[in-house]
Amino acid sequence: MAGGMGGLGLVAFVVIALLLGVDPTALLAPSSGPAPASYQGQDDLRDFAAVVLADTEDVWQARFAAEGGTYEPVPIVLYTARTSSGCGLADSAIGPFYCPGDQRIYLDLSFFDQLERGLGARGDFARAYVIAHEVGHHVQDQLGILSAIDRRMAGLPEAEANALSVRLELQADCLAGIWAQDAEAQLGVLEPGDIEEALGAAGRIGDDVLQERGQGYVVPDSFTHGTAQQRINWFRRGYESDDLRDCDTFSAGVL
Ligand SMILES: [Zn+2]
Repeated sequence: MAGGMGGLGLVAFVVIALLLGVDPTALLAPSSGPAPASYQGQDDLRDFAAVVLADTEDVWQARFAAEGGTYEPVPIVLYTARTSSGCGLADSAIGPFYCPGDQRIYLDLSFFDQLERGLGARGDFARAYVIAHEVGHHVQDQLGILSAIDRRMAGLPEAEANALSVRLELQADCLAGIWAQDAEAQLGVLEPGDIEEALGAAGRIGDDVLQERGQGYVVPDSFTHGTAQQRINWFRRGYESDDLRDCDTFSAGVL
């Protein structure tokens, strides 16, 4: 990652930096207990994703319009097994990600099941949070943050580039929190327990939790998404403040 990044290296890095942070090895751990009662078929999952995506469009269009801007909706590509993307091959091993190359979200439908049964993040709002986080990356893209951070990362030593990635990811969590607040206030779509489900998911996909689960130890310099506690903190901050300025992870002293 050190030195100039271009071509395939850059593409691979973007994919790695932007995916949700689920270490595939963590997902290989045997699931415990019976299949959850809320297990849904693929058609239901597609419908669910479409509804959440529409809710993100309502919220972000209103926010951008309030600032005199225009929010361009982001398509979500729901696939099974693998598909090609503007950022290279997408498959179930790499988890959901936002691709700035073609401005699309890629999500393997089996991920929702992995989230619930493999990682224990239960509930429809755990899944909504995943989508809202990826939409958060699209918002960062629209605001020019993604490309600016990408340029800053180029040429940085790996540990420093990772630290920037963490701030980018935690900001996407904060944006997901803002979305949840607006979805509740404007659209009235939240149910009791939804925020707890999102926080529960954030707490299960922290780098520390996934590394501990996957390899039995943690390497903080290799974190790209932040610890479970940091992810919880930033989602909650966005949800509670509902103010974009409070999502400035890049100038935060403490994450
Ligand atoms: Zn992300």
